Amino acid sequence: MRIVLVGPPGAGKGTQAAYLAKNLSVPHISTGDLFRANISQGTELGKKAKAYMDAGELVPDEVTIAMARDRMSQPDAGNGFLLDGFPRNLSQAKALDEALKEDGVRLDAVLDLEVPEEEVVKRIAGRRVCRNDSSHVFHVTYSPPKQEGVCDVCGGELYQRDDDSEETVRTRLEVYHTQTEPIIDHYKAQGLVVTISALGKVTEVTERAMEALQQARAARAS
Ligand code: AMP
Repeated sequence: MRIVLVGPPGAGKGTQAAYLAKNLSVPHISTGDLFRANISQGTELGKKAKAYMDAGELVPDEVTIAMARDRMSQPDAGNGFLLDGFPRNLSQAKALDEALKEDGVRLDAVLDLEVPEEEVVKRIAGRRVCRNDSSHVFHVTYSPPKQEGVCDVCGGELYQRDDDSEETVRTRLEVYHTQTEPIIDHYKAQGLVVTISALGKVTEVTERAMEALQQARAARAS
């Protein structure tokens, strides 16, 4: 399956993407994770991306599209992928349409995770992420680790992302509304959007998402 995941920062895209990708046996491709890996490895790409990320703004399209396409052309993505955080504006969505067309394949669904804005701010302010694996996510109040600052899953160090400060979150939300939300209409016109609530337990949201994706797949096959 080829799936795009959209939703505001703090909707739980990364967490859900990790579970869904495993269930669907496709790679989880997160442009945010790819940028963060480049930053920690000190690459030129990472240096270019860092200032934009710290400010909560989008990294320029030419850098982002090339990086995403490169990752999507790896052998493990041959039969499908789950895109998390890409595309994030209309020109990226159109570049993805083009790339898929060239490959003679199409998206199966665009999963839209819906969450109220006040919940987003609460979720992000307390979010702590594992340095070893960004799908190991905790929250200081909602799902605290057994030992403060230590990942329950792998013992890695938990940290607060530089761009999870309250001020940057507001910019990221603004960017989401003005630049990313329009891609939902773009995909609605292609009949691809399935919207689910991202509220509730992680497992409940995963179940909801799997059900919605199965329905979308059945509808497209008929
Ligand atoms: P994320 O981990 O998806 O929340 O992304 C963190 C940050 O990485 C974003 O706030 C952007 O600065 C940058 N980023 C991730 N994906 C993209 C994208 N598709 N286009 C531009 N910037 C991106």
